[in-house]
Amino acid sequence: MEQGYNNLNSATAKITFLEEENKRLTVENNALTRKYQSAQDAIDRINGYTRSRDKLYESLILKNNRQKNYFRLLLKNTQDSILMLDHNQRLVYCSDVFMELAGISNIGFISDRTLHEIFLEYVECNVVKVIIEILEQAIEQKKSGTVDHTLDIGRKGNPRHYRIFIAPMLDVKGTVEGTLLLFYDLTEIMEAKDQAEQASRAKTVFLAQTSHEIRTPMNAVIGMSELALRASALSEAQEYVEGIKQAGLNLLSIINDILDISKIEAGTLMVQPAPYLLASLLNDVISMICLRVVKKPIVFIVDVDPAIPNNLVGDEVRIRQILLNLLTNAVKYTEEGYIRLSVKKEAAAPDGSGNESGGKHINLLFAITDSGIGIRETDIPILFTNFTRLDMKKNHGIEGTGLGLVITRSLCKAMGGDIALRSAYGTGSTFAVTIPQEVSSQDALAQVEHPEAKGVVCFDKRKLYLDSIALSLRELRVPAEMSQSEEEFLRELERGIYPFAFTSVDVIEKAERIIKEKSLDTTLVLLANVGEITSFRKIPPLIMPAYSVTIANILNRQTAIERRRRRDRFIAPGARVLVVDDIQTNLSVAKGLLSIFKLNIDTCISGQDAIEKVKKTKYDIIFMDHMMPEMDGIETTAAIRALDGDYYRNVPIVALTANAITGMREMFLEKGFNDYISKPIEMAKLGAIMETWISAEKKISESAEEKKETGKGHIPEEFAIAGIDLQAGKNRYQEDAYLEILRSYCVHTPALLEKLETLAESLSVEQARSEYTIVVHGLKGSTFGICAEGAAKQAEALEHAARSGDIPYLEANNAPLIAAVKALLKNLETFFKHIEARAGKKPAAPMPDTALLQNMYDACKHFKANLMEEALKKLEAYQYESGGDLVTWLREQVDNLEYDAIQERLRPLAAQSGKDNA
Ligand code: ADP
Repeated sequence: MEQGYNNLNSATAKITFLEEENKRLTVENNALTRKYQSAQDAIDRINGYTRSRDKLYESLILKNNRQKNYFRLLLKNTQDSILMLDHNQRLVYCSDVFMELAGISNIGFISDRTLHEIFLEYVECNVVKVIIEILEQAIEQKKSGTVDHTLDIGRKGNPRHYRIFIAPMLDVKGTVEGTLLLFYDLTEIMEAKDQAEQASRAKTVFLAQTSHEIRTPMNAVIGMSELALRASALSEAQEYVEGIKQAGLNLLSIINDILDISKIEAGTLMVQPAPYLLASLLNDVISMICLRVVKKPIVFIVDVDPAIPNNLVGDEVRIRQILLNLLTNAVKYTEEGYIRLSVKKEAAAPDGSGNESGGKHINLLFAITDSGIGIRETDIPILFTNFTRLDMKKNHGIEGTGLGLVITRSLCKAMGGDIALRSAYGTGSTFAVTIPQEVSSQDALAQVEHPEAKGVVCFDKRKLYLDSIALSLRELRVPAEMSQSEEEFLRELERGIYPFAFTSVDVIEKAERIIKEKSLDTTLVLLANVGEITSFRKIPPLIMPAYSVTIANILNRQTAIERRRRRDRFIAPGARVLVVDDIQTNLSVAKGLLSIFKLNIDTCISGQDAIEKVKKTKYDIIFMDHMMPEMDGIETTAAIRALDGDYYRNVPIVALTANAITGMREMFLEKGFNDYISKPIEMAKLGAIMETWISAEKKISESAEEKKETGKGHIPEEFAIAGIDLQAGKNRYQEDAYLEILRSYCVHTPALLEKLETLAESLSVEQARSEYTIVVHGLKGSTFGICAEGAAKQAEALEHAARSGDIPYLEANNAPLIAAVKALLKNLETFFKHIEARAGKKPAAPMPDTALLQNMYDACKHFKANLMEEALKKLEAYQYESGGDLVTWLREQVDNLEYDAIQERLRPLAAQSGKDNA
């Protein structure tokens, strides 16, 4: 029993143990199952990765194959020769073009061979070493290189010009894996470039030669027509000749423009520096622009720093051209608002280094600003290229060629300067020009003597003008009170503390009254627009735009008369010149032009003759044509210089040339000439030559000479008056007395004529007839007295008729007498104007008569030289308080045949008087 019990106990214990064991195993099994599961998951994931890796690999292979295909396609179809080398510089691939050119049918012939080997066999090239050097350099520096060279790929005797690019191929780590060589064929491009350059050179040469060819005959055309105009009295013929001359001048100006452009393109545009006065340059430019501005509702303002030196050395003609181009553009492209010219200076160094030069060199800074249409930012870079015109639609009708800015910029550059542009489209533009100039004397452009004592009160409603005048006065150190209000201005004026009062026309009469009523010691100055002056003859005008120079002139009371006096012309009756030219008409032209200097002129038509003449006579100047058959001007000059004696070494020889190409001056100076003048000869240039080369002791001031002639009241020999026997008068009287008689006749006779006219209406009345008798008797006496026998006899016959009561005779012959005497008076008037002009004692006038200026304009427009001369003579008969410069200028233009300039300057006057129908 006990045994059984024990067995039972142990069985129970076993069961318990087994149960425990089972529990543990179950837990363990569960854990293992979980582990198995996660292992299974990992296996699945790995399988997934493997699959996608395989897919990726497949697609990479595909892509790689595609890239290879692209690459092959490229090498097959490219038009350039391409070689690809491996890191050992052996060929891997090359383009089909290269194979074709080299005549290689299978790449296998060259693959794995070095560049040197390939060139040796297939490419004719004498610099393969250079190419390999660049290749090695490219590999070493890991940077591509280029070289241009002629190669004959294929050695077929057909070399072509290539640009060879050599580029290293780098892997991700930057190691050189190989190199690429690309041969870009430039042959056709270079041929085209050569052709274009050749054509351009040919064009330039052609233009230069043509200009020379055209200028030569035009010298004759313009000069001879001028002489014909002076000589011929036939008005119809004059008109034709005028037409010829005008056409010649127009043609000349076009030729000059073309020459400018051709010089720029050929790179031969040269500047010709000479001393000049900045004030006169500015004055010319401003007055020319003024005339354009008056046609538009624009204000023209000028601000000029008065401290700029006036005496400069530079190319005045070219600077004027630049300013006129830019200002004309400003006017053209501005419809309203303003345009402004501002001139300043900065210190500069002769070499442009920025080191100051002690005032010997300055930069002139010009700024031309307008409130016009402006220029788009994107257009600015193309603006300075030939024939560029912007906004063609908007600017339709504005004349222009698109050459102006190109010429302008080239001129700036040629003078060592520059031009810059700032613009806002729709608002306006500023062109800023910098030009280095040499200073020949430090005298300032404008200076007011004792400025502190020249206080100005100034009125103008136009703020722009007022501000500009204020700036000038400030710079001139003149105390000023500026006002835009009429009341304020008049109040200030009444205080009586201002030596000067400037006012626009609105208040001029009120101001004048105040000055008179309060007996103020104030000089009234009219701020006048061009052409506004006529009705206020006694008040000195300051023509707008007023700027430092004109303001200082008014404040210093430097009159136009003084300035004119300084520009006196000279004559040289003691001098002798020789003109050498193979063309007879050219000799006549030169002679005609030289005649105003009243010197002795010899001419000859060949170099040989010239040498003979020079051996016999000592000349003050020899004018020598350049191109002559047989012995040309240069050879003749050399022969003269070689003659024995100081005179032959030193005699001034001036070259005459129709060749206006630059560099001529230097060439002539080198060849022994002293100076040169280009044909057609301009009077101003000839004047300058004479001024330089005629010695001082032979020059006589023209007016001094004439004063001497007429000083004692002498009547010059060549003077004649139709209807009066001057010689008889001179024989009968002392000349002074005779002149007095003539003058008195002019003063008193008009009243007598008036009486005769009135009395003739009632000749049947006894009383009237007897009065008529007395008057006509008096007239007879005085008319005999002045030696006008014809008219005197007419009066005598009428006197008889009046006494005998022959009324029909009186009625028939009174009017003819009056007409005859009026004609005498008119002739006398002209005669006295001549006499006074000769004596330099012209009657004074405030300013030139607008009606005469109008006549002058009309005559000029219709090329009527005789009418123009007539009007000009009348204008010249007076000494002007202001505006005398204009008359002097007109004379210069007429002498130089510059009819365009005259029309341009006078046109606004004509437009104002409403007569301009052009
Ligand atoms: P042109 O005036 O004879 O056409 P330019 O060379 O002087 O030739 O000027 C070229 C172009 O530049 C003009 O056609 C015009 O479109 C533009 N331009 C020049 N100056 C100005 C200005 N001040 N304002 C606006 N546009 C201008």
